[in-house]
Amino acid sequence: MDTRVRCYDCGATDDLRDRKRCNCGEPHWFDTDTRDFDWPDEGMGIWRYVDVLPVNEPVGLSRVSGNTPLHRNRGLESADGPRIHLKLEGLNPTGSFKDRGSAVGISYAVADGTTWVGTVSHGNMALSVAAHAASVDLECAVLVAEETPRERLELIGQHDPHLFRAIGSYGDLYEETLNLDVDIEFVNSDTPLRVAGQKTVAYEICEAFAPGAPDAIVLPVSSGGNASGIWKALRELETAELLDSSAMPRLYLVQAARCDPIAQSYRAGSAAVTAVDGEETIAVSIANEDPPSGTRALTAVRETGGAVLSIEDDEIRAAMRQLAEEAGLSVEPSSALVLSAIEELTRSDTLGADDDVVGILTGSGYKEQTTVDTAVRDLPIDDLERVLSGLVGGETDP
Ligand SMILES: *Cc1c(COP(=O)(O)O)cnc(C)c1O
Ligand SMILES: [Zn+2]
Repeated sequence: MDTRVRCYDCGATDDLRDRKRCNCGEPHWFDTDTRDFDWPDEGMGIWRYVDVLPVNEPVGLSRVSGNTPLHRNRGLESADGPRIHLKLEGLNPTGSFKDRGSAVGISYAVADGTTWVGTVSHGNMALSVAAHAASVDLECAVLVAEETPRERLELIGQHDPHLFRAIGSYGDLYEETLNLDVDIEFVNSDTPLRVAGQKTVAYEICEAFAPGAPDAIVLPVSSGGNASGIWKALRELETAELLDSSAMPRLYLVQAARCDPIAQSYRAGSAAVTAVDGEETIAVSIANEDPPSGTRALTAVRETGGAVLSIEDDEIRAAMRQLAEEAGLSVEPSSALVLSAIEELTRSDTLGADDDVVGILTGSGYKEQTTVDTAVRDLPIDDLERVLSGLVGGETDP
């Protein structure tokens, strides 16, 4: 088991058990030496990359995550636009990429002899941690915000975690849980274990393109944890000489315009991300006013020559419809905006017909309340043949 963590910014090293944040304030990540890494011959899901993970024994549901399809859908492409490859992260066991981080977090906790794990989340991460903990009989504490809707709690509650509604400032809770003197391994959005697991998505993407690389990777961003993992993977693959420094994929991060602190700091040319007062958006999974790894994500964008985009809710709705109706893909709003961003990058000629772009569709739409009005008609069985033949024959209202 690895315990050495390092600050991406000032380079200071530390022990994971002592600190998840550097003294300089920035988040730590594992200090991984990839000089001897090569593409493996075999391996299951994310454990294919076990040589670069901080723990090497997958437990319970952890075995299932990863190896999601990279699906090229020509129906979404335009003549002057890029080749679009969609990474279908909704096919992970609880329906989002969060399972990659939970898999590493829970396996590490078991190897470390920890009996309690926890998370601060009211969405995909809570569901993912609760499911993984259940699969190995670990105790799990999930802290949700006061206003979390009942349906969400029921979804999470299926796995029987200890569910707490946190009364007070939910914003402070995240950092508080990382500093508690309690024996619970909190696997929050940007903690080293979670980032280590989530980097595997970029290992999979780069291996699929090897010995080449995609020109760009587009993904939604909230805490900045997933973007950090992907950037970490690119740096590690560069060290392993499996990715050419001149062919590094550019990272494009996407936020909902109604809550876009990282995009605002990017546009302002700031070195660090500052908190904003956001508005409510349909992209609930990425509405984070004060992202803990915002500055690290912004640095990733600058270092790879990418950008941060903001997408309006109406465009997000349109992208959801387009993915569902033209590609057969149901994703949540927080993933659909990836398609809007690819379209915007195509309109601005940032991406063109020579480019390969990977869009990471982070979460399934099948566990969400949809925003689509669904028309359903009653059809008496005696009328079956008449109505269906009218329909096939082109009648509008047979
Ligand atoms: C958590 C989440 C994100 C944002 O990831 P961060 O690591 O917090 O930046 C994006 N999409 C979905 C579906 C998520 O659940
Ligand atoms: Zn530091």
